[in-house]
Amino acid sequence: MLQPFVNEFSMDDQYKFAINLVETLSQYGDISFMLCEPGGGILHVNSTFERTFGWTAQEAIAYNPALCDEEEAARFLNILSEQRYSVANVEIIRKRKDGSCFQAKESVTPIRNEKGEVLAYACFTLDLSENTLNVLSKSDDEESFRALFDSNPDAVFSLGLDCCLTSANSALEKMTGYKQDQLIGKTLDHFVVPRAREVVIDRYQDALKGISSQFETMMYSKDGEHLLVQLVTLPITIEGQVKGVYCIARNVTEQKKTEDKVTHMAYHDALTNLPNRRKFHEHTQQILFFAAKNNEKAAVLMIDLDGFSAINDAYGHTIGDTVLQIAAKRMQNCIRDIDMIARIGGDEFTITLPHITEADHAVKVADRILYELNKPFYVRGLKFEVSGSVGIAIFPDDGHTTDILLRHADTAMYRVKENGKNSFGLYSGEMRQTATFRQRIERELLNAIKYNQFVLHYQPQFDVTSGKIVGVESLIRWIHPERGIVYPGEFIPIAEQSDLIVPIGEWVLRTACMQGKMWYDSGHHNLRMAVNLSARQLQQDCLVERISAILQETGLPPSSLDLEITESVAIQNPETVIQKLKALADLGIQISVDDFGTGFSSLSYLKLLPIHKLKIDRTFISDIANQTDAAIVSSIVALAHNLNLEVVVEGVETTFQREWLPKLGCSMMQGFFFSKPVPPDHISNLLK
Ligand code: C2E
Ligand code: MG
Ligand code: MG
Repeated sequence: MLQPFVNEFSMDDQYKFAINLVETLSQYGDISFMLCEPGGGILHVNSTFERTFGWTAQEAIAYNPALCDEEEAARFLNILSEQRYSVANVEIIRKRKDGSCFQAKESVTPIRNEKGEVLAYACFTLDLSENTLNVLSKSDDEESFRALFDSNPDAVFSLGLDCCLTSANSALEKMTGYKQDQLIGKTLDHFVVPRAREVVIDRYQDALKGISSQFETMMYSKDGEHLLVQLVTLPITIEGQVKGVYCIARNVTEQKKTEDKVTHMAYHDALTNLPNRRKFHEHTQQILFFAAKNNEKAAVLMIDLDGFSAINDAYGHTIGDTVLQIAAKRMQNCIRDIDMIARIGGDEFTITLPHITEADHAVKVADRILYELNKPFYVRGLKFEVSGSVGIAIFPDDGHTTDILLRHADTAMYRVKENGKNSFGLYSGEMRQTATFRQRIERELLNAIKYNQFVLHYQPQFDVTSGKIVGVESLIRWIHPERGIVYPGEFIPIAEQSDLIVPIGEWVLRTACMQGKMWYDSGHHNLRMAVNLSARQLQQDCLVERISAILQETGLPPSSLDLEITESVAIQNPETVIQKLKALADLGIQISVDDFGTGFSSLSYLKLLPIHKLKIDRTFISDIANQTDAAIVSSIVALAHNLNLEVVVEGVETTFQREWLPKLGCSMMQGFFFSKPVPPDHISNLLK
């Protein structure tokens, strides 16, 4: 009889295997199976059991009926206890539910846990009176033996004591591509790959000793294809003697491929096929572990593509995706095989460099990457210019964990962005201070919102032709409890990098609109209130709704509000920005381009935006006596007027400037010459 159980399998495996095998065998309608507790209680029976004994599975489990008479039971238990450690093959008279008896051949296998304790017995009962499947013990019953063999979807074959194939089913033919007669008489070497042979032979020898196993191995087919196979080896025991080994082989190559694919997906970015953040993390963790052990340095690089979102927004995701793929490839070519590059976000990439002797190595890699990214990108006949900002953190100098190194590389990368992009930066001690400084300011800003430490000052804008104040620009100040007045240049960029700019910006808008409404109500209907909007605020999805709600809440007419955006904001996300600006303009709000001339937008581009006013940056007029500057200013003014745009000149400080500018065509001015930004009651006085 087959001895399908091995003590080596886990309880779960054995149980599953048993059920599986029994279910397969019971298709032939002959073998009853039951799983019993050591005390005899029935745990599970199959359908053949139900047919043979007449008890349903529920009845059998619930009533635990006697399946033979007492005398026979005692004899049976006796045999079992003698055979405590192995399989018992017995002949027994079994009793059905209707009281009738039948001669049966039974194989009982103890199922043990790791400690060797018996957890259950698996009992196979072959009804000899039916006498249909004594095939396994009778060599002359070739036909039904074949049937069992051949209809098995798994490849089944037997090996003799000389380790040569004695039989094989058609599934093995299908799997290996060899015809049966090409296999019979051959050793396993014929289709087990060389490096797997030793293990297979070991397990074969175990089976000869009565120990079955289940393991994965590599076989190959007739045409050399490698197959990953799950192999079960079972001893063939005939009348108590091991005569050979049955092998059941299942080709799991495809299954394994699917599993590998799923794992790959979990650890890779679908677009670039680079490792993703999770993989990067796990890998870097290991690199750091070995670096620490071997007293070595390692580097973590953070790379952000400059100008990518503009391409993505202006030309769409398909082009954006291709740019990312090209960038990924180029960067991959800049690193060694032992380095790893990952894509961890939109246009953010990270690189780990193990085994480096000094930071200089990382710098060279960063240099190469920048060089590669600076080459033009050609997508669908279009040419794009992209560059990169790279931050570098070194293990162990800049941190001991992946998280800290990443954070520090990020800080260094941000510093590069602030300083004009397209470069690399090392996280240095100085940056560490900046980072903590920034963190401190962020914390303090939170308090500033909570404790109302912000105030707005207003700077008037004059029309020198009429000599009247035509508008005021609201400028935020932070009345810091220790440091006194803090100017926006010190905290607005930090607020912009965190999300704090959103609540701060909203406070500014509300306060400015409230103030504007007060002046409006006191009769200054033509006074415009200018408010600065930061890039981050323009990314806010509900910006238009928020602004219109604030206008309603405060009662300021939309036509009294000017929103100032910088050129760089305007060109960063053209499509979405244009949409929002149009919606704002539709409300009646006017849009001004602040610090005009410092960015790189062209007037023709600005034509696409619904803007009303240009504010010429003060750098252009600081040296207005200079011919070039004067020429620039007058041409800006001429072009702007052509486009029906108003022009305001910022930073007018001197009488000379005040006198000259009207000659260049500018009559609207703002600057210290007229007034510094002042608290609202000063403006009220001026207005009078
Ligand atoms: P901005 O919008 O260009 O504001 C004009 C800046 O120039 C103000 O600096 C103002 O004090 C300064 N200024 C005005 N006239 C003169 C002059 O004659 N000579 C010189 N040298 N400077 C002059 P401030 O108040 O320090 O603001 C700096 C920047 O901070 C602003 O530039 C604006 O971009 C930003 N900012 C100010 N308030 C806010 C705000 O509420 N929200 C946002 N997002 N940004 C703000
Ligand atoms: Mg401004
Ligand atoms: Mg300005």
